[in-house]
Amino acid sequence: MEPFEVFAIRYGHLGNRHPGQSYILADPHEYGPDLDYFVWVARRNDCMFVIDTGFAEESAIRRKREHLRSPVDALRLLDIDPDKVTDVILTHLHYDHAGNLDRFPAARYHVQDREVAYATGRCMCHAGLRGPFEEDDVVAIVRKLFAGRVQFHDGTDELAPGITVHHVGGHTAGLQVVRVKTARGWVVLAADAAHLYGNFENDRAFPVVYSVAEMLEGYKLLYRLADSANHIVPGHDPLVMKYYPAARADVEGIVVRLDVPPSRAVPPSR
Ligand SMILES: [Zn+2]
Ligand SMILES: [Zn+2]
Repeated sequence: MEPFEVFAIRYGHLGNRHPGQSYILADPHEYGPDLDYFVWVARRNDCMFVIDTGFAEESAIRRKREHLRSPVDALRLLDIDPDKVTDVILTHLHYDHAGNLDRFPAARYHVQDREVAYATGRCMCHAGLRGPFEEDDVVAIVRKLFAGRVQFHDGTDELAPGITVHHVGGHTAGLQVVRVKTARGWVVLAADAAHLYGNFENDRAFPVVYSVAEMLEGYKLLYRLADSANHIVPGHDPLVMKYYPAARADVEGIVVRLDVPPSRAVPPSR
């Protein structure tokens, strides 16, 4: 089996955060980490998957996030034409992962049953749970569904040999992580199953949460799916840009390769 190349594309940033915005029961005096925003790509000769679609500039302005670049246009840095992308995996439907859906006219969208049920059901009666969703994104996925362009998954599924999705229910009801076979082994793109290294490595729950218990179980699942702790890629940690090498000199600070080992000692397994 030919291994996948895997990339993270950084398109947004958020600074000046209180520690309690990253960790439940944080000490107010500890460091409050910044967040980066990413989309990911897994590709090899016979197939290519875009993982998440980022937020649009309008959502960034409304939500006061730093919009560094369009995540869709940034795919062109990897010679990917968004018009020709055939498969998009949506880890979940939060605004920073499932915007821009109309920018992929040829794509089929892979999403968990439970995520669409969650984003269109009674949990959205609660402002706190509804807040990270954009109404327009949820409507957009329903329209894709009626256009025959949604592929549902329930739990674990193989999309092609060497790439599988796995349900993790903590952050939203139907979040999925993506496990990809690379030249260095099985890499797990955690997305919001682990925003920061500090969440999964220290077993500290992130406060945007549907079920704390499932989130903590999710951290354990990441370790089971990945070949080592250094094969887990958190979804919002700025350290990812520090640990992984640029895909090319001209995309320094924008695109890093995740299919090569990070420049950090391997932390203990849990
Ligand atoms: Zn999220
Ligand atoms: Zn997110």
